[in-house]
Amino acid sequence: MEKVSVGIDVGGTTIKVGLVDSEGNIFARRSTETRPEERTSEQILFDISRLVLELLSIADVPMDAVGGIGMGVPGTVNSEKGIVTYSGNLRFKNVDVMRVLREFFRGMPILVNNDANCAALGEARFGSGKGFDNVILVTLGTGVGTGFIVDGKILEGKFGEGAEGGHICIKMGGEKCTCGQRGCWETYASATALVRQTLNSYKRYPNGIMGQIIAADDNITARTAFLARKNGDRRAAKVVSNYVGYIAVGIVNLVNVFRPDVVMIGGGVSHEGEYFIKMIDRAVRRHAFGGKQNHPPKVVPASLGNDAGIIGAAALVMPR
Ligand SMILES: [Zn+2]
Repeated sequence: MEKVSVGIDVGGTTIKVGLVDSEGNIFARRSTETRPEERTSEQILFDISRLVLELLSIADVPMDAVGGIGMGVPGTVNSEKGIVTYSGNLRFKNVDVMRVLREFFRGMPILVNNDANCAALGEARFGSGKGFDNVILVTLGTGVGTGFIVDGKILEGKFGEGAEGGHICIKMGGEKCTCGQRGCWETYASATALVRQTLNSYKRYPNGIMGQIIAADDNITARTAFLARKNGDRRAAKVVSNYVGYIAVGIVNLVNVFRPDVVMIGGGVSHEGEYFIKMIDRAVRRHAFGGKQNHPPKVVPASLGNDAGIIGAAALVMPR
């Protein structure tokens, strides 16, 4: 009988649970609110376990058809012990996730990992990194999330504290980061950073097409510069090309260390169009070590979107 894997994607606002087949397809799913500000870690984990049981029952999947349960959590995860060392989003500190889940699912393989690592694994197995053993996923959102699959395995570092590519320093004494340091890559390459860069350009040149778009929306988002560029705004084109430069410089650093087969870009910004990914790809090829004589990886959009978390968490417990 073909085994089903359970994938759990725990976010700060929403918990998503899915049943995933061996081809990486989610065939049943449920979600609920996390509400970490009003619930203890124990209550949240109980709720997750109940949700899994409910989903299995609704989908009519017997317990012995389940191959395992994988969970992705935003924060630092000691995957060997199944302990979430720290998660700001969930307000978890040294939470023994494994202990609680085992009460509900005795004898079942259970694995917990960082959510960005899970997404990278999902994309490597079933998304745009399929067929490759060495991939990097870069997610451009509020911050910059990174996941590294090296020789088919998640790179975690000691106690799961590594793989934080968003916090490599690209400018000494640069912009202040939420992590307490300065000049981290994510303070230049995140969607949040793009909004700031757009605002700075608008302040200097408030009268262009970008100014009209901002006035009409009464807002600046990560889309504003892309939209203004599309409408022929020269300043907006400059904002986008600078932003591409920031993204590329971090990727080049990662590529020079890991030399993956492919680099995948995820997050809302990655949907801005083929030209945007192509610009990053060109910059990475131009600046990666060894130039064209070596084998620079291709930069491509990630393909699993919001499902990468569930699929990747499920992939933790799938046989390779
Ligand atoms: Zn940082």
